[in-house]
Amino acid sequence: MVGEPQDDCLFCKIVAGQIPADVVQETETTVAFRDINPQAPTHILVIPKVHHRDAAALAAAEPGIAADILREAGQVAAEEKLDSYRIVFNTGSGAGQTVFHAHAHLLGGRGMQWPPG
Ligand code: AMP
Ligand code: ZN
Repeated sequence: MVGEPQDDCLFCKIVAGQIPADVVQETETTVAFRDINPQAPTHILVIPKVHHRDAAALAAAEPGIAADILREAGQVAAEEKLDSYRIVFNTGSGAGQTVFHAHAHLLGGRGMQWPPG
C-alpha cells in the first residue's frame, strides 16, 4: 500500500529503529538525523515516517506531511543556529537521488554556490 514501510528501504529501517542514526529531532510524522557523509558542517536529513519514493510523490499523497518536512527543516536550522541554509530534494538518479524514500537535505554552516552542481 502507498505510504507503507518497505522491507528494502534504508530510511524505513531508520524510522523503525532497525538501523541506528544520529537523530536530532523527531515528531509524530518526521525524523531528522545527521547525514552519514556530510557535505557541509551541518548536514541533516529530514524524512517523513511514511514511505514515498520522492518529495513530489509525498506532496501528492500527503501534503500535510510534506509541509511538516519543511517546517521541521526550518526548526532544525534554527536549533543549529543557521541563518542561511539550503534545503535540497534530489529527485531521480540523474539528480543524485540514491535513497528512494523522500528526504530533505538541510545544509548549512558554509558558503554556498549558485547555480548548484
Ligand atoms: P540522496 O543521494 O539525495 O538520495 O541522499 C541520500 C543521503 O543519505 C546521502 O547524503 C547519504 O550520505 C545519506 N545516508 C545514506 N545512508 C545513511 C545512514 N545510514 N545514515 C545517515 N545518512 C545516510
Ligand atoms: Zn522507506
